[in-house]
Amino acid sequence: MAAEARGRLAGKNAIVTGAAGGIGLETSILFAKEGANVLMADISKEALDRALAKVKQLVPNTGRVETILCDVSKEAAVKTMVEHLDSWGGLDVIFNNAGIMHARDDDALNTPEEIWDLTHNINVKGVWYGCKHAVLSLRRHGKRKGSIINTASVVALVGSATPQLAYTASKGAVLALTRELAIVHAREGYRFNSLCPAPLNTPLLQDWLGDDQAKRHRREIHFPTGRFGEAIEQAQAVVFLASDESSFVNGTDFVVDGGMTKAYVTPE
Ligand code: NAD
Repeated sequence: MAAEARGRLAGKNAIVTGAAGGIGLETSILFAKEGANVLMADISKEALDRALAKVKQLVPNTGRVETILCDVSKEAAVKTMVEHLDSWGGLDVIFNNAGIMHARDDDALNTPEEIWDLTHNINVKGVWYGCKHAVLSLRRHGKRKGSIINTASVVALVGSATPQLAYTASKGAVLALTRELAIVHAREGYRFNSLCPAPLNTPLLQDWLGDDQAKRHRREIHFPTGRFGEAIEQAQAVVFLASDESSFVNGTDFVVDGGMTKAYVTPE
């Protein structure tokens, strides 16, 4: 007989999108450590293979951990990804986390329309499709509870003078759609929360900043703690939102930012 899973997510079937990247990988590792069965989804096969190897190495005695290639901007791919869990007993948790911030994203005058569309197709439509197919799956399997967590950003809450307009607008949309879904589905027991990370030490931002010290300083001066956040610090919050510990947390903009969005001036 298989050993009974233990942990804060024991018995839950979870999908993580963008699972090969910074937040997604740390979350997949923690989900597995906390006893969840995890389907890791990403658009990059190579990165996904590396990420799976890391999870298996760090959490050798885990439940089921599998990978699936999925471009979240394509509804058919998202449907296939969610239906992959039908044979596991259906989805309990989905972390709609895949997102991009394009190097050519800029201000109102200089953002190319194709970059706006690409950003919104992944960051907004991708989250919508994930939510839609999660609800369909939860209903199909007669589940009385489910947790959907969508990655937004602090830029959905505060404006930035270093513009990336398509990205900012896309994350505002994630907050708004998550809030509405939280209310629409509350009586079914399906919770929807947004995660709002501060600037992080992950490839998405760090590759973009490179070794441009002026660009870095422009941001660091606004951090009360004086540092970028770490992906693991986001993952810890996602575990809470995914678990039954957060059973009365619904529709919230869950901010994990070291106090950044509450700062007027920061310590010298
Ligand atoms: P990351 O670049 O390390 O990881 C993102 C992952 O998403 C990558 O593995 C990438 O291959 C994958 N991906 C990209 N397009 C995809 C698609 N169409 N379908 C499926 N997967 C796709 O970035 P991260 O920092 O871990 O970011 C994760 C989320 O957090 C994103 O939504 C991002 O906008 C958000 N966020 C990041 C920061 C930050 O500073 N890094 C701050 C706030 C919010």
